[in-house]
Formats: sequence, structure tokens, C-alpha cells
Amino acid sequence: MSKPLLTVENLRADIRMPDGVLSAVDGMDLTVTRGETVCLVGESGSGKSLTCDSITGLVSSRKIDVSGSVRFDGEALLEADEATLRTIRGNRIAYLFQNSHNALDPVYSIGNQIVEAITFHDDDPEPEPREQAIELLETVGLSRPGERVDSYPHELSQGMRQRVALAIALAADPDLLIADEPTSALDVTIQARILELLEQLKRERDLTVLLVTHDLRVVARLADRVVVMYAGQPVERGPVDAVFETPAHPYTQALFDSFTGTTQKTHEQPAATGCRFASECPHAVDDCRTERPAFEAVGTDETTSHQAACIYYRDGRDRSKVLERATGVATAADSLLEVSDGE
Ligand code: SF4
Repeated sequence: MSKPLLTVENLRADIRMPDGVLSAVDGMDLTVTRGETVCLVGESGSGKSLTCDSITGLVSSRKIDVSGSVRFDGEALLEADEATLRTIRGNRIAYLFQNSHNALDPVYSIGNQIVEAITFHDDDPEPEPREQAIELLETVGLSRPGERVDSYPHELSQGMRQRVALAIALAADPDLLIADEPTSALDVTIQARILELLEQLKRERDLTVLLVTHDLRVVARLADRVVVMYAGQPVERGPVDAVFETPAHPYTQALFDSFTGTTQKTHEQPAATGCRFASECPHAVDDCRTERPAFEAVGTDETTSHQAACIYYRDGRDRSKVLERATGVATAADSLLEVSDGE
């Protein structure tokens, strides 16, 4: 297996509050290898975006303390100075946000904004940057790119602006694209087109992507591997097929239930100690409230990369208690995913 491009170990983002410290990201481990798409999935407030911002040094609040280890192609990012981080963000790690309004400057034409991104990355671009900008607009599927290169953001539809934001992200030919809820602000038809485009770019450009989403449809279509997050902590991880076939952690099952409409999410306060899902988990026992569960293999094969942080997967515990719902939950989600695929 090739060396990971990004390795994150025990990442924490602690927010200093008037009444104590809130661990908004708590013990995140993550690897992303070149050419793969790793997806952070969880409901809003689970720490997905803060994880990405912490990795790339985008956390600006002095009230948030980021610690742990982040290595991007060998470079220790948490120890890097701001100038180094800015260069890495401009050249090697690109962002695609939920709302293209944030990525586009209303006073410059889209062509100028793409040219700026190209020349930040390469001071002697070949072919010349305007020509490259038109090619990039064509790559992201904007019709009549030669004319539209001189358009301003307000002259474009929401879907077109998201394509332009993607063209800007691709302008530096980044090693890693961080896509944070890239389709959430779009209507359903445009969402489908942007997803198709991302799938196509993955195939054709061998893009490496760290994807953040709450939407299981997006996960199913784009991810190679998944990390499920709950209240700042990773709770399940593994290849996308394994997680969708056997959602093993009780929180992942609740997330799938909520997607299929089987149950609504509850909004209990996460438990302060032990497993944070203990206040909502139907299988919780006393140990769950005192000890934070480590990741354990879901199957009996210890070498599997499908793991869940739940005490029922420890040796000597009866994992069938939490696994008994997995097949039903997975089948219900699968039928819904098939329906939306056919839309
Ligand atoms: S560790 Fe306990 S509370 Fe947490 S998911 Fe497993 S059974 Fe539920």
C-alpha cells in the first residue's frame, strides 16, 4: 500500500468556554492515501468541519486550542508557521465549500479569479493563464466557457457558481481537495450534477479528496473509506462498502435510521465521560459511562480495517447484541440509495 498523503493522529480541538473546556474534536485519527476519497460523516456539530480546519490551520479563534499530530506529505502542519500554511493551502491543499458565495469575490470576473489562483501556484504558467482558465471552466462542465470566463459571479446560477468554485480549487492542481458539504446548499437536480462532476474528476484526475458531509447519498457515491463522527469523536471507520453493508456502531445505525426515516434523531446532551453516545444508546451499560471505548475490529478478523469504538466489540463481549440490527438498517438504507440513484 502506498504511503499516506495525510496522516492525522490524536487530533484535538478544545474550545475554552466560560464554564470549562469543550472538546469539539477529540482524538481524531485519519489517513488519506493518494487517489482515494475519505469521507467524514456525521450530523451537524459533530466536529467534521472543525477537524478539516484544524488540519489546515484555518482555526482562527484564539479560544480554540488545537493539538495532536498532522503530517501532510511529511510536513508537520501543526508546527508550521502561517506563511508555510498559506503556501500549502494555496498550492497543495484546496477547499471547496458548501456555499460558493464564500469562495467567489463579487467584484472580479470569474476568469480573473481563476487566473489569480493559477498564478499564485505557478509564476510562469504555460499555456497562458486565461487559456488555462477557459480549459478549467470546460473541465468543470460550464457551457460556453470562452464567453463565460468574463462573467461576474452574480451573472451565474448557483450551480454554475459551484462549478466555478471547483475550477478555482483545481487551478493549483492540488494534491488534496477538501470538499466541505459541497452539495448541501444546492437544489436536488444541481446536487446530482455536481456529484456526477466530482465522480468524473475522481476518475479522470485521480483526485485525492477529504470529503465532509452529513448526506449518506454523497458518501455512497464518492467515498472509498468512511469515518463516522459523533460529538467530536470518531466512532466507526472502514471501507465504504463494509460500513454500508454492516453499520456496526449504534450511532451509525441511528444515523442510517434517521436517513431512512425509521426514527428521528434525538438531541440528548452527549455524555461527558466514557462513550459520548451513552445517553442515547439503547445498548449502554455502566462501563460505557466510565470508559472511553477504543476502536475494535467489527468482524472476527483482527486485521480488518472496519472498526467501531464500542465496548461490545471487545474480546469476551457479545457483539451480536449491537450487530443484530445492522443488516436491517443497511438494507433499508440501500433501497433508498438505489431509488435516489435512479432519479
Ligand atoms: S460503548 Fe456503550 S454507549 Fe457507546 S455505543 Fe457502545 S454500547 Fe452504546
